[in-house]
Amino acid sequence: MFSSWLPGLNRGLATPTGRIALLVGRSPSRSLQLSSRRSVPELSSFVARTNTCGELRSSHLGQEVTLCGWIQYRRQNIFLVLRDFQGLVQVLIPQDESAASVKKILCDAPMESVVQVSGTVVSRPPGQENPKMPTGDIEIKVKTAELLNPCKKLPFEIKDFMKKTEALRLQYRYLDLRSFQMQYNLRLRSQMVMKMREYLCNLHGFVDVETPTLFKRTPGGAKEFVIPSREPGKFYSLPQSPQQFKQLLMVGGLDRYFQVARCYRDEGSRPDRQPEFTQIDIEMSFVDQTGIRSLIEGLLQYSWPSDKGPVGVPFPSMTFAEALASYGTDKPDTRFGMKIVDISDVFRNTEVGFLQDALSKPQGTVKAIRIPEGAKYLKRKDIESIRKFAADHFDQEVLPVFLKANWNWNSPVAKLVMEEQGLGLIRRMENQEEDVVLLTAGEHKRACSLLGKLRLECADLLEARGVLLRDPALFSFLWVVDFPLFLPKEENPGELESAHHPFTAPHPSDIHLLHTEPEKVRSQHYDLVLNGSEVGGGSIRIHDAQLQRYILETLLKEDVKLLSHLLQALDYGAPPHGGIALGLDRLICLVTGAPSIRDVIAFPKSFRGQDLMSDAPDFIPPEDLKPYHIQVSWPTDAETEKNSLNPPHHPES
Ligand code: ASP
Repeated sequence: MFSSWLPGLNRGLATPTGRIALLVGRSPSRSLQLSSRRSVPELSSFVARTNTCGELRSSHLGQEVTLCGWIQYRRQNIFLVLRDFQGLVQVLIPQDESAASVKKILCDAPMESVVQVSGTVVSRPPGQENPKMPTGDIEIKVKTAELLNPCKKLPFEIKDFMKKTEALRLQYRYLDLRSFQMQYNLRLRSQMVMKMREYLCNLHGFVDVETPTLFKRTPGGAKEFVIPSREPGKFYSLPQSPQQFKQLLMVGGLDRYFQVARCYRDEGSRPDRQPEFTQIDIEMSFVDQTGIRSLIEGLLQYSWPSDKGPVGVPFPSMTFAEALASYGTDKPDTRFGMKIVDISDVFRNTEVGFLQDALSKPQGTVKAIRIPEGAKYLKRKDIESIRKFAADHFDQEVLPVFLKANWNWNSPVAKLVMEEQGLGLIRRMENQEEDVVLLTAGEHKRACSLLGKLRLECADLLEARGVLLRDPALFSFLWVVDFPLFLPKEENPGELESAHHPFTAPHPSDIHLLHTEPEKVRSQHYDLVLNGSEVGGGSIRIHDAQLQRYILETLLKEDVKLLSHLLQALDYGAPPHGGIALGLDRLICLVTGAPSIRDVIAFPKSFRGQDLMSDAPDFIPPEDLKPYHIQVSWPTDAETEKNSLNPPHHPES
């Protein structure tokens, strides 16, 4: 039977990055080894059992034990496999007449019923050991058994859980949590957070402070959830992060703050976001960027699970401008190459129309990425869909150029490029015979963003065809620094918005530009990127009230009344300070190799922001809304239909 259960488990764990196969045949908590030494926790204190199912080994032979667990499997009314959080153990169902009542309990109980058994740990008969099972050398000879609670017919089998739709898993989340995968993810999360607390509080004197979740509206940034109050027309807002509170704690002299903080953003459905999520939120006084970066590198090194390999520090860093130019994004996946190359100079005298056009414009560039062995792995339909994507989403042309002229038979333009600029192109792109170059032309940012997307798209395509580009065992951390302080507003490019948040300090060397060319000012904002995902971000803050007011009022045109408490506080001897927040869900998702952040959260919301188990959000009867002076204005059928056809658009931040 284990041969059928374990490969199933293995499959479930074989995430796209295939990283946690180590769980196979091991119990989840025992396989979590964190970097520093710790004493082994006592797992059976205070409870009815003497041992956990998964901990029993030959060293326990002869011991009388009491176990509590769920019935995972039963074979021929002779064997039963009992499971708890620690693992599986085989139980021998007694066959003799005198134990008929015990046999009846164990044979009648439906699968996933919870039972308590007492008996002796014995060796399995020679030849019947199961090397795939950590407890495979022993079994339990049962003397007494008690059915603690029977289980109704399940909506699915626990071991097949990963095969079920996610909606079903979320609806029966309490059953999903019984799976090895979820147990592993949540236990790893808990252990990493514990190590983080230890590092921050015990080793570096941070103070864990809880901040309110009922707060008020903050200007700019993400959309907030609102909570009605009993005062007519007045609402609380759920904080997007404890940003203001942690700065105020610095004014209050707390000096080093940290919190495992719940944050709320009403940003609608995005695959890697949750409306409520958790940050490791940090703030320090008298610190600069280097200090924060070293703190975080030490924190991750300390809390990193040892079976995931060591974390090399310091992490490399890259400016925002470099990230955009080479990777087309502010969160580059640096596990592989295929960088963007500016080849405008190679095409100065080109005859190719769309390249000529682009280069004749003041901001015009020609850029390319090289797809290694693309000629071998990319199909014609891939190239067509790449070109369509570029046209649909970026209004850009992409030209695939194959090194061998005869492979360009269907593209006279590519042929022309090879004839005219072939040599220059090969030299600049360091092409090998089977590579493909994807060429585009246009304004720098636009061309880079497009090629950045295509770089990832092509990496997915190559990997789907068996090429290993991104080592699943590799964790590639990167600091991205020197962001612009402001960006043009998406909906109104004539106005500015903060690239991070309005409390971020300008780069000291650019302060003089604040009054003249604010769009050119760089900031003291830093992001932490892991394997192409942003896992943290922070900044050195403005601690000068006058500068903060100028930025809010004059440059960002925000209503400063909403922030008068903060501006006032800065005037009362606020220390220089800075901080950062790590996105815990995303970080754990990457560490575990889980397919989605929902797999590292015990009770996540669905893609559409719903709790499928309890069916939240839910209606509230009108009379219960009265104390809040609120009435629902129900949408018409036509409006409802329109909204479901056009869900709100969420541009990537
Ligand atoms: N509060 C910021 C955020 O949530 C992080 C920081 O600046 O510390 O992104």
